[in-house]
Amino acid sequence: MAVDLSHVPHVVELAERTAAFVREVVVPEEERHDGVAARGGEAMRVRLQAAAKQAGVFAPHVAAEYGGQALDMRGRAAVFEEAGWSLFGPLALNVAAPDEGNMHLLEFVASRAQKERYLRPLALGEIRSCFAMTEPAPGAGSDPAALSTRAVRVPGGWRIDGRKWFITGADGAAFAICMARTSGEPGDRGGATMFLVDADNPGMKVVRHIDTLDESLYGGHCEVDFDGCVVPDEAVLGEVDQGYDYAQVRLGPARMTHCMRWLGIARRAQEIALARAAERRLFGSRLGDLGMVQGMIADSEIDMAAARALTLQACWELDKGHSASQSTSIAKAFTAEAVWRVVDRALQVCGALGVSGDVLLSRFLREVRPFRVYDGPTETHRWAIARRALRTATR
Ligand SMILES: Cc1cc2nc3c(=O)[nH]c(=O)nc-3n(C[C@H](O)[C@H](O)[C@H](O)COP(=O)(O)OP(=O)(O)OC[C@H]3O[C@@H](n4cnc5c(N)ncnc54)[C@H](O)[C@@H]3O)c2cc1C
Repeated sequence: MAVDLSHVPHVVELAERTAAFVREVVVPEEERHDGVAARGGEAMRVRLQAAAKQAGVFAPHVAAEYGGQALDMRGRAAVFEEAGWSLFGPLALNVAAPDEGNMHLLEFVASRAQKERYLRPLALGEIRSCFAMTEPAPGAGSDPAALSTRAVRVPGGWRIDGRKWFITGADGAAFAICMARTSGEPGDRGGATMFLVDADNPGMKVVRHIDTLDESLYGGHCEVDFDGCVVPDEAVLGEVDQGYDYAQVRLGPARMTHCMRWLGIARRAQEIALARAAERRLFGSRLGDLGMVQGMIADSEIDMAAARALTLQACWELDKGHSASQSTSIAKAFTAEAVWRVVDRALQVCGALGVSGDVLLSRFLREVRPFRVYDGPTETHRWAIARRALRTATR
């Protein structure tokens, strides 16, 4: 049976325009700041996003009423990979984590008033946001059921107490989507609620920036304290106690959009390696004529093609309205390891040049490594994949 994985013409055209925009406008900024977005500051974010709007490539994933082009997941796969060709591309297009995943969640779950207050300015790039789920041990991490941040009813609203960490983009975010336990005990599978917490709430504080291997995501990875943080009833996102279900609305697609963006960086790394293999001469031949180098190049082509196909398969299922939990786990686990391998091989092909700051490969390597931990560590996905397979086999 023939399978058609081609994209519709307007997606192809948008992907091509995105590719040109990223090369002409975004890459010079990325090189100027060694791939570390924070070095460019807020002025750079505003400048890049204004340029993306001008080029008609801004926020393509959100609905037209919020200024976007309502791309489905398959369409995002094509465009986000082109955005991801530069570390700063997703920021420029306003499709970077965590804002992109938060926009997706708000579109699905938020009330009309919440959409006007939070989604609209977020989609326009006027504000940034963060998603606060993970907690220091023994709280939520790979096992979200360990959630220990509590929200209890108080007159007119809720009081949230707990500590979160590794909250990407928290510094400078206008609001956080905070997961807190509203019923049950840590270890219980239900009982979580999502709250929209404004940054000026005196009960929410960014305690510190955590020093990490990666630096390209904007606003740092922060530790955030919720201490007597009182929010009104209107701050509840969706229904009380339904937070875990909404997390699935966010996490499945957010895993895939990470795969798309990092696939862009893998392709860029491979292009750097190919250019080097074509020009560098040693042992009487071109580097690219040596069999072991060809093996690395071929393995990277295979890794990227497989990662793209798995991601598209999962996107197709999401577009059809399926939960896609197995296919998103498979695509995420494979792609996170595949992009790491591709960047690592590219660095090897380039020799000492690869570890230098003269090309961005060592920066790419640092940026892609944490993807094997966030959005579910590889081991958590492998465990879930095996359990689903076993369940199917014993049905
Ligand atoms: C760069 C970065 C950005 C992040 N951004 C955010 C954010 O914006 N918001 C947010 O809420 N969180 C964020 N996180 C947190 C991230 O989601 C968690 O790190 C992740 O869920 C893993 O939780 P943990 O770190 O507590 O690891 P743990 O739960 O302590 O797991 C440790 C290790 O155990 C192993 N393991 C896990 N499950 C299994 C299993 N079933 N079988 C065998 N071994 C297993 C894995 O190797 C795993 O790495 C971010 C993390 C990083 C690194």
